[in-house]
Amino acid sequence: MTEEINPFDVAKTQIDIVAKEMGLDKNITEYLKRIERSLIVTIPIVMDDGTLQIFEGYRVHHSTVRGPGKGGIRYSMDVNLDEVKALATWMTWKTSLLNLPLGGAKGGVRVDPKQLSMKELEHLTRRYTAEIINVIGPDIDVPAPDIGTNAQVMAWMMDVYSMQKGRSVPGVVTGKPVEIGGSVGREPATGMGMFFVLQAFCEKLGLDLKSQTIVVQGFGNVGGTFAELLYNEGCKVIAVSDVSTGIYYEDGLEIEKLLEWVKQGNYLKDYENDKYKLITNRELLTTKCDVLAPSAIENQITQANVNEIECKIIVEGANGPTTPEADKVLFKKEIRVLPDILANAGGVCVSYFEYVQGINSYFWKLDRINEELKRIILEAFEETYKISEERHISLRTAAYIIAVSRIAKAIELRGIFP
Ligand code: GLU
Repeated sequence: MTEEINPFDVAKTQIDIVAKEMGLDKNITEYLKRIERSLIVTIPIVMDDGTLQIFEGYRVHHSTVRGPGKGGIRYSMDVNLDEVKALATWMTWKTSLLNLPLGGAKGGVRVDPKQLSMKELEHLTRRYTAEIINVIGPDIDVPAPDIGTNAQVMAWMMDVYSMQKGRSVPGVVTGKPVEIGGSVGREPATGMGMFFVLQAFCEKLGLDLKSQTIVVQGFGNVGGTFAELLYNEGCKVIAVSDVSTGIYYEDGLEIEKLLEWVKQGNYLKDYENDKYKLITNRELLTTKCDVLAPSAIENQITQANVNEIECKIIVEGANGPTTPEADKVLFKKEIRVLPDILANAGGVCVSYFEYVQGINSYFWKLDRINEELKRIILEAFEETYKISEERHISLRTAAYIIAVSRIAKAIELRGIFP
């Protein structure tokens, strides 16, 4: 929609905003805007038809001051170094806000995984892992799934790393299949975290969650799970979208049937129901509703559409869906935003549980996973809410104050090497 907005510029502006609010030291502010290290790799793949195609991949560590890097791997045609830098930076704030002993990292390959055969996808993943092998590892940086990747991709990554080490190293990635050291509850964790945070926020505002109308942009693992949980709660989910289209029905969509359709590999645009209306992405985002959940990609709520947004609450399932300029307008319009680094942190939270379970070789039951996820994410929510109320600032700025303070403190305590 607005390709000219550079996500890393957005990430740096967000640091400036919070630095000003909390009076952060100028030099530390500049330091936080830098990337610890970034690696660009070339991935040559012999395709099924015998031709050679060359792909570009990245792995970026924004900060490892509080622990090993942590963050997903994205396979998408929109991936570029600055996007990965932004996503790595946001991971730093996310792990810090949840007080997990991890840093922030991200990776990606510029590729459309839907255009690859299973064999090509496997070869791409294996070669990419081999190329980044020296900057990942259980104590260095632990990748996970993101847009365009899944548990199978993590299994291949774990296998390449383990083959090189000569022993099984499950702790090198999270979001693995349960059969090889993955955690139950990891897949729905991001959507579930969004649900817990929204539920708690509605309580604070005296709103009945069940009677809220919901619009969700993105119907993948994050948006799909979130929509399903709200649908099961009794909410009317009036619009959802995937890459093919948005669909709208004012009496509420049948989310379970739609999820089944999409899980079979179909697009929403091909779903047949006479009552459902196909809508554009812009129409979806500006649909009048109570809760809007942008759960796809960056830069969706911008100066170009923010004045038309008509909801009470925004729950950011995606990373970086709102630009700082649009954020200011939302604050003035009194539209409350549950920011990405809080709202979608459920995924990395359960990734952390997977990591801990793997280290201990002792695996928890689903009840324990969901209970601890709820506890950790709601602690972060309560802290964020309190600061935002006390200082009359947005939930985003409040969340950033907590996250950035912890990083700044860690830098101060460790000192600058040498
Ligand atoms: N890719 C997810 C995110 O953006 C999960 C990262 C992880 O589990 O490490 O939060």
